[in-house]
Amino acid sequence: MTRSAPTTINLEALRAKYAAERDRRIRPDGVNQYRPASGEFGYYAKDPYTPWIDRDPVNSAVEVLVIGAGFGGLLTSAFLRDRGIESVRLMDEAGDVGGTWYWNRYPGIHCDIESYVYMPLLEETGYIPKWRYAPGEEIREHAVRIATQYDLYRDALFQTRATALHWNEEQRQWMVETDRGDRFSARYVVVSSGTLTQPKLPGIPGIESFQGHTFHTSRWDYGYTGGSPEGGMYGLRDKRVAVLGTGATGLQVVPHLAEDAHQLLVFQRTPSTVDIRDNHPTDPHWAANLGPGWQQERMENFLNVLAGEPVDRSLVEDGWTATPHLQRMILTGAVDESLSASERDHRDEFEDAETMERIRSRVEEIVDDPHTAQILKPWYRYMCKRPGFSDTYLQSFNRSNVELVDAADNGGITQVTDTSIVVGEREYPVDCIVFATGFDVGVSGVVSGSLPVHGRGGRQLLETWGRGPRTLHGFYTHGFPNLFHLGGMQNANSVNFVHILQEQAHHVAEVISRADCEGARWVEPTVEDQEAWYQTVQATARDTSTFQAECTPGYYNGEGTRSITGMTFSPGPVVFHRLLRHWRQHNINDVLVCSDRDEKRRLTTTQV
Ligand code: NDP
Repeated sequence: MTRSAPTTINLEALRAKYAAERDRRIRPDGVNQYRPASGEFGYYAKDPYTPWIDRDPVNSAVEVLVIGAGFGGLLTSAFLRDRGIESVRLMDEAGDVGGTWYWNRYPGIHCDIESYVYMPLLEETGYIPKWRYAPGEEIREHAVRIATQYDLYRDALFQTRATALHWNEEQRQWMVETDRGDRFSARYVVVSSGTLTQPKLPGIPGIESFQGHTFHTSRWDYGYTGGSPEGGMYGLRDKRVAVLGTGATGLQVVPHLAEDAHQLLVFQRTPSTVDIRDNHPTDPHWAANLGPGWQQERMENFLNVLAGEPVDRSLVEDGWTATPHLQRMILTGAVDESLSASERDHRDEFEDAETMERIRSRVEEIVDDPHTAQILKPWYRYMCKRPGFSDTYLQSFNRSNVELVDAADNGGITQVTDTSIVVGEREYPVDCIVFATGFDVGVSGVVSGSLPVHGRGGRQLLETWGRGPRTLHGFYTHGFPNLFHLGGMQNANSVNFVHILQEQAHHVAEVISRADCEGARWVEPTVEDQEAWYQTVQATARDTSTFQAECTPGYYNGEGTRSITGMTFSPGPVVFHRLLRHWRQHNINDVLVCSDRDEKRRLTTTQV
């Protein structure tokens, strides 16, 4: 049964409005409109948090090298230690653990996924988050807590970037080189270096000539602003501050800048959806009554609800659990087979329209000035952009020191001069520009090529992947023994990405420990298994290209030029995790090279 349209929503008119708003923003240069925070803009990526520490190069061998000390790397290392593998070395370019939460410390930073399902190992560390949606600092401290409890600082290398990996066939181990002159061997290498890590800047003409102060939100300059992630930026009291970018970061940072700056100009190209946040401190009575296994149960429940799998009762109940059908537009999960494809599309479009109408009405209810409210209304389908939540962002525009600048036309701001920002005919003098302009997508060193990986016979991984990645379950590739990838490649995703990483970390730790127990010579999938997985992913892939093509430009759709969600396992994370569990029980030996026969089979097959 499909529902009929509420009489107040004219879907055809809405589609036309969405298309017109999209056309206002689309730019011919697509992703090339941005500049990376490197080269002449390299100072935007410098670490403002940890002083540089000189050290001697390291040459000591390790059993497992884990590249990336965010939650993916921390969980893999912790699970390896749980399984008795002591020789684990974490490596990160940052000065400490935490990944995203190390770098992003801007005022107002919070995680918009509930802390009880987002922050991993709560029961193992005996920690209960203070808030339902945790501030970034609490999450970063939790990363430190995990590293401390599992003794992961022991052999860690911070402020260090791996620059090359070479497989040594005779010794059956990886030779690792870094930008600190380290050269050591690692039997296994796990790469968990994240996907939204490299800050990007808008390529606005004249941006390099600005003489005031500038920085990116992921390298917050508290030396200039004063204050802390909780606010109190006394350095901005006499400053005219511009913020560029109104994505998930912009929503969190604007209320604090509004409070502390003399004047705040918010330059908006596309408004975010801003739904109710409803954050509150953790109820101590609730926390005291949690039984053993509560966190895993809650995480699974949240994942099941979002992936469209049946649950007796939804435990989390928030803005995410209210929109699972809509998330399916770009994320993986079950589809409702009781409806035909066209009935599903019909239902989803109505749900989308209702949700967006509610969000647009919320803008009108909160923002006093009707013109400002008009500009703040989002006109696109819900999952075209990362959904946003805030109970303070829209309210900021009722302050007399805050001005919203509509920079939607002509691809945004037209120019930056030495003292001001220009939009069309109007010039806005400012003292400081804060870039909340996001990150390059998918640029882990392995994918970008900045970390060259030479496998068996010196073959380069990126060359081998010339026609796109080939892996078994997203983890490993034939010809590159003992090398594991964590992240969003050829597997299933969900908005609680730490849960996704936790399952991957568990899987990798289990394979490595099993290889150790069995005395395996190395770990490597067969070409046949890898190809079969590729075909499975292809066969199940849902085509989201029409949805993405109709969306406003942004990083989800390659700025309107392509879909970034192509190669995922569409049945979703719940099915994928079940499949991995089954594989660990029945097929784990398929990747272990233990005998002469296994070895011969791996060495005589080549990558297809
Ligand atoms: P985004 O890429 O989402 O947003 C970048 C913003 O910069 C957009 O509003 C974009 O406008 C704007 N912009 C880009 N170029 C220009 C220009 N030339 N002129 C004016 N504006 C411009 O980056 P974020 O840092 O906000 O978020 C990145 C991701 O980080 C999120 O999607 C989310 O995955 C994650 N995140 C998660 C949080 C959480 O709580 N879990 C919190 C914060 C971030 P336009 O939309 O028009 O392109």
